[in-house]
Amino acid sequence: MRVIAVEEHMATEAFLGVAHGLDVVPGDETEIGLMRTVETAPAFRARLVDLDARLKEMDALGQDMAVLSLNPPGVQPYPAADAVPLAREFNDALAAIVRRHPGRFSGLATVAPQDPVAAAAEIERAMGPLGLNGIMINSHTGGRYLDEPEFAPLLAAAEAHRAPIYLHPRAPSMLDAYRDYGMPGAIWGFQAEAGLHAMRLILSGTLDRYPELTVVLGHLGEGIPYWLRRIDNRHAFAARTAGAATPMPRLSLTPSEYFRRNFVITTSGIDDPDVLGLALSAVGADKIMFAIDFPYEDPAAAVAFLREVPLTDDQRTALGHRTAERVFAIT
Ligand code: MN
Repeated sequence: MRVIAVEEHMATEAFLGVAHGLDVVPGDETEIGLMRTVETAPAFRARLVDLDARLKEMDALGQDMAVLSLNPPGVQPYPAADAVPLAREFNDALAAIVRRHPGRFSGLATVAPQDPVAAAAEIERAMGPLGLNGIMINSHTGGRYLDEPEFAPLLAAAEAHRAPIYLHPRAPSMLDAYRDYGMPGAIWGFQAEAGLHAMRLILSGTLDRYPELTVVLGHLGEGIPYWLRRIDNRHAFAARTAGAATPMPRLSLTPSEYFRRNFVITTSGIDDPDVLGLALSAVGADKIMFAIDFPYEDPAAAVAFLREVPLTDDQRTALGHRTAERVFAIT
């Protein structure tokens, strides 16, 4: 079985060299301080930048392809004047890596939502001349979310150029309640933040404006499959009691219908057969892709999970490569 993993982070020395010297926008200092420490540790940095070693590791595991993306939170914590050219330079480097290794690497471009018009142009370039497969956005940008009107050019470009948006977690924008006990990170804050962002896209009516948009969520849907029925019930209740304390935009579909139409989820970091079973009943195998979340999760454990978890042959084929080939136009 062909194995494609779709949330596989990397960086270039050129990117890290520039990014670590930049000023950070207010509010993002804590997260960036941590990420710079992580990215400076020699062994970890090597895991991010050494793609020859990556290929050897993939060979040893029987992993055919990695869909590469810049290590989060990418360019989003930097002023637009720095972030826009940095994204462009990174995407050029990523496209060159993908071209050198056809069949082994694909790539998700980085964009700077801080400048939505520049981001739209970069999406066009990424999906056109650069030949990349989508984009990754690391949730909020300066506390702003993609349903807000300023991001219309970015979403329109993603829809027009058929660029799936991998909506990846980062530390929550409302950080105060998460500061203690290590909670901003992957233990809780990441999925709370990414799940919130996805729910904003659904409940705002954004997906009525961009019905062809594809949004990819890691971690088997950032908790949303678990809540789908309750979300539909509460949304219907709110619609029946118009004028209630929390007004909601009128939507043409139920929340779960948007989730099943516009979203695709990945297994990154959740090697749990019971949660995968829930996700399969919620959205089906043609909406689920295999992902490792390299270098944060153990690639061997993730690949073993894909090979061994109880699935039908058709489900395993869908998760292993077929859904990714369709979503990211991988041949
Ligand atoms: Mn990740």
